[in-house]
Amino acid sequence: MPAQAEGKAAAPALSAPQKALHKLGLVRDIDLALHLPLRYEDETRIVTLRGARDGQLAQIEGTVTNSEITQRPRRQLLVTLDDGTDTCTLRFFTFYPAHQKTLALGQRVRVRGELRGGFLGWTMVHPAFHAAGGELPDALTPVYPTSAQLPQAYLRKVVASGLRRADLGENLPPALLGGLNAVVRGTWTLRDALQFLHHPGADVSLDALEDRSHPAWQRLKAEELLAQQLSQFTARQERAALSAPALRAKPGGLHEQLLGVLPFALTTAQRRVGEEIARDLMRQIPMHRLLQGDVGSGKTVVAALAAAIAIDAGWQCALMAPTEILAEQHFAKLIGWLEPLLAPLGKRVAWLTGSQKKKQRGEMLALIASGEAALVVGTHAVIQDQVVFKNLALAIIDEQHRFGVAQRLALRGKMGAGMTGGEPHLLMMTATPIPRTLAMSYYADLDVSTIDELPPGRTPIVTKVVADSRRAEVIERIRSQLAQGRQVYWVCPLIEESEALDLSNATATHAELSESLPGVLVGLLHSRMPVAEKKAVMSLFTGGQMGVLVSTTVIEVGVDVPNASLMVIEHAERFGLSQLHQLRGRVGRGAAASACVLLYTPPDSGRLGETARERLKAMAETSDGFEIARRDLEIRGPGEFLGARQSGAPLLRFADLATDTHLLEWARAAAPVMLAEYPQQAEKHIARWLGGKAEFLKA
Ligand code: ADP
Ligand code: MG
Repeated sequence: MPAQAEGKAAAPALSAPQKALHKLGLVRDIDLALHLPLRYEDETRIVTLRGARDGQLAQIEGTVTNSEITQRPRRQLLVTLDDGTDTCTLRFFTFYPAHQKTLALGQRVRVRGELRGGFLGWTMVHPAFHAAGGELPDALTPVYPTSAQLPQAYLRKVVASGLRRADLGENLPPALLGGLNAVVRGTWTLRDALQFLHHPGADVSLDALEDRSHPAWQRLKAEELLAQQLSQFTARQERAALSAPALRAKPGGLHEQLLGVLPFALTTAQRRVGEEIARDLMRQIPMHRLLQGDVGSGKTVVAALAAAIAIDAGWQCALMAPTEILAEQHFAKLIGWLEPLLAPLGKRVAWLTGSQKKKQRGEMLALIASGEAALVVGTHAVIQDQVVFKNLALAIIDEQHRFGVAQRLALRGKMGAGMTGGEPHLLMMTATPIPRTLAMSYYADLDVSTIDELPPGRTPIVTKVVADSRRAEVIERIRSQLAQGRQVYWVCPLIEESEALDLSNATATHAELSESLPGVLVGLLHSRMPVAEKKAVMSLFTGGQMGVLVSTTVIEVGVDVPNASLMVIEHAERFGLSQLHQLRGRVGRGAAASACVLLYTPPDSGRLGETARERLKAMAETSDGFEIARRDLEIRGPGEFLGARQSGAPLLRFADLATDTHLLEWARAAAPVMLAEYPQQAEKHIARWLGGKAEFLKA
């Protein structure tokens, strides 16, 4: 029986080029219409050989006056073409009988390629050619990004028909078009803009097309940014329709008590962001806030204060950090402050980590389910299925950029058994500040609080970029720091291709330092050590008995040892900028003058690569996290800046946040108007640009 008869339509088999199209994401007509040329070829004119220049990319037409295959210096087809003004030799090293036929003696042909004016007259190597005749196109010929399975000529045809069929009707209401035309500097519809960009006329300036400043490009980019803003605003609206418990600090309650036991006064910035968070918590809408503040700016205590509000109101709070050692190090203080205050309330702190014994984990799960654990601290283990909260009101994610979209979504779904229609408040923390344009675009659905001041009494960190050949001097410097009772970090790079190599590097450095510093306890910390051993090493360092800690990048975030005054980073040229900045932030946490030494090893070939040099330069020039983030964005571009983990969010294909801020600002203002007054068009616009991908943006 045929499959259809059973009511199951067989999916039509895709041809090889169709498969290749799907691979490029070219499925719908609109996808094809938005598949824009990489560059253009000019086939609109025929150049005469007499008027041509050496090196010119030219199209010529003429009669074949000679066509022969020679064997020397290697087998090739040599064709002489006479265009009436001069002759040109065409050389082909690969050719087929059909080619020879088109290029046979006496044929008229049109060829296109790079003209070389050699000693023996004009030549072209492997030009494109076809029999002469037919009208010249009046537009430039598009060259599309493609793959090996997808011939350019085929792609041109399908893109052209996609462009013809796609629904390119105007989505923008007339009320918004005026403003758009002003920022775009022209009145272009999407249809006109696409038609133009696929097939620009022969007289168009290729520069304006290339740098995408042409109004047609601008219109396209404005549309793309609008779609992104619309989906972000929609996510915000959807969140506003959800409910969350309204939490309010009580007079004399946990929040106030915590402030009372802190060994320091909050900075103005900490107070301000604390109030921003407290205001969010009072609302019945789930908070979605990013707390950004440079390394060492004191985010943890702000998190603790928010937790105190939630717990005092009778709810649970979860704190999640990317690794176990970070969770432990980072939250040790927080727990030290809160635990004594929880005890009189009959509440406890529960830990959840991957390395836990089954029995212990079982106990923790029970504490969490019963609600006895008011505060739950841990790693990714917190979002696993078996973890059932009684009533989770606040979820705090530290170093949020190390978590993926799916993990954030999972946490939001964990409010508690039987509590439907609600979501916990979400507070994300990061030491990697988000540059303004990114905050306006990818993170438009987030409210942002910024701690822009460091606690008092910190001395600025001096950063030195030093060649590895001066290692002995660096070790001398370590000796003098140790003599003053200070402690030192030495970080070895992660060698991505090989964890084993990574380890041997750290081990070798550890041995070297142990030998050069007799009588000093030098510790080693790397990611493959058992957790218990890691903890033992960390506690020796935190306790001050260990003078030097050699480690791979496990200490990247969160560790807090105020007595450490020197950070040495080996092979600093291999680290990313924000990573270097994070590492540097491990020192300068106390009153002592601190320094960071960036050791670099030039490659055998000589100089460091340009981006590596730029990164080290930026580190030496500034210790301001915002400036570092801005330069990082400049060096890497938003795709890499956001990181692979964020790849659920479709990146902008056309708009460039560095140059298109004016378009972004327009889109940001237009989106709420469109959603409020023209919701149908808004929906159509999101579908056109984001297809099924809009969901990802909502995490
Ligand atoms: P980060 O923002 O990097 O997470 P932490 O929260 O770890 O920073 O704080 C860094 C250090 O500064 C900690 O030792 C913390 O106790 C201390 N600290 C935080 N706030 C203040 C303050 N207002 N005054 C003095 N020290 C503070
Ligand atoms: Mg921190």
